[in-house]
Amino acid sequence: MTTLTIKDLHVEVEGKEILKGVNLTVKTGEVHAIMGPNGTGKSTLSQTIMGHPAYKRTQGQILLDEQDIDEWTVDERARAGLFLAMQYPAEIQGVTNVEFMRAAMNARRSDDDQIGITEFLRQLDQNREILSMPEEMTERYLNEGFSGGEKKRNEILQMMMIKPNIAILDEIDSGLDIDALKVVARGVNSMRSPEFGVLMITHYQRLLDYIEPDFVHVMMGGRVVKTGGSELAKRLEENGYAQLRDDLGLNI
Ligand code: ADP
Ligand code: MG
Ligand code: MG
Repeated sequence: MTTLTIKDLHVEVEGKEILKGVNLTVKTGEVHAIMGPNGTGKSTLSQTIMGHPAYKRTQGQILLDEQDIDEWTVDERARAGLFLAMQYPAEIQGVTNVEFMRAAMNARRSDDDQIGITEFLRQLDQNREILSMPEEMTERYLNEGFSGGEKKRNEILQMMMIKPNIAILDEIDSGLDIDALKVVARGVNSMRSPEFGVLMITHYQRLLDYIEPDFVHVMMGGRVVKTGGSELAKRLEENGYAQLRDDLGLNI
C-alpha cells in the first residue's frame, strides 16, 4: 500500500501564496475527487505534488509513505509511483508516444527486469483497445497535432501503461464530448485496484457519474474546505460554490 499525505501545505508561485494550508491523504485503493472554483489552486497542488520547480513550498509537508519528498526531482517522484496527467499536456517533438511510454515504464523497473518489446506491445494493444485509440496515434510524436480530447486520451494511455501507484488527473474531462468521456472513464476504471489510488480534479459532476469517487473534496481559497462522499459533488452541482461558502461561513 502507498499513502500520499499532504499536511498543512503552503505554496508560493512567483512570490504569491496560492496554497494556504492544504490537508489531504490519498491511499492506494481509493478514488478521490477535488472540485473547486477556477484559480483556487487545484493545478498548483497537482504540479507541486509532482515537483514542478516553479512551485515553492513555504510550509507543511508532502509525504509518500512517511518520506518527505520535497527534495525529490520529478523523475524520482515518477519512479516512486506518482503520475500526473496535466491540465494542458505538452507537445514534444522528436519523442514518439511509444518511446516515451517504454522509457517511463522501464524507469520504474530494475535493470534486470526491463520490459521486452513483445510484452510492451501486448500491453499497448490491450490498453489501446480499452481506449479505442488507433495504432497510428501511438506512433506519432508525443501529443503532436493531437486534438484536446486525443491528448487527454493519450494521458490515460500513458497512465495505464506506466501503472503508477497514485495518479493525479488534472481536468482529464475538460474538452471531452460524452463518448470520449466514457472512454476515459473506462480507462480509469480499468485501473481501479487495491494497488492504485487516484486524485481527479474536475469542475463537473458529470465525470463522477462514470468514475464513482470514494471521497469528494472542495478546494476554495487555497485550502480544502470540505470533504464528503459523492453526494457532496451532487449538492455542489445543484447549489454552486456560493451556497457552500455561506454554509461554511467562509469569507473567501
Ligand atoms: P485552478 O487549477 O484551481 O484553476 P491554479 O492552480 O491554476 O488554479 O491557479 C491558482 C492561482 O495561481 C492563479 O491565480 C494563477 O494565476 C496562479 N498561478 C498558477 N500557476 C502559476 C504560474 N506558473 N505562474 C504564475 N501564476 C500562477
Ligand atoms: Mg482552472
Ligand atoms: Mg487548474
